[in-house]
Amino acid sequence: MGKGYETHQARVAALQALGKDLARRAKSKCELTGAAGVPLRPYEVPPVAAEPDLERTLLLCEACHEVLEQPKRLAGRAWQGLAEVVWSEMPAVQVVAWRMLQCLAKREDWAREVMEEVFLDPEVEAWAKLEVL
Ligand SMILES: [Zn+2]
Repeated sequence: MGKGYETHQARVAALQALGKDLARRAKSKCELTGAAGVPLRPYEVPPVAAEPDLERTLLLCEACHEVLEQPKRLAGRAWQGLAEVVWSEMPAVQVVAWRMLQCLAKREDWAREVMEEVFLDPEVEAWAKLEVL
């Protein structure tokens, strides 16, 4: 086994260690869509920190993971809930919701309107802008 593999395994273990705290915080619901009774997996908000960090990790449903991996699939009014979620008290939630809305705003009028109203704290905004979906 190479060093890359060992590093990867260490990261997987560290992420699993966050699992309990994540589940407690998320109350077994997707932290973006509120989906309950569905499988949830951790999502490390890019750019990924050297060590997994609870404040930079969200527990998300498969539908969210899918569009975050393939933002081209991000479309439609099904994502309108993000307009509220982007005002969350949790910066990581705000950052991901903002990036998704920014992506949606390329093709959806409602998302453009939401983006015109959204105000993020400067630090959160700077974090959000580090990556584009
Ligand atoms: Zn979700």
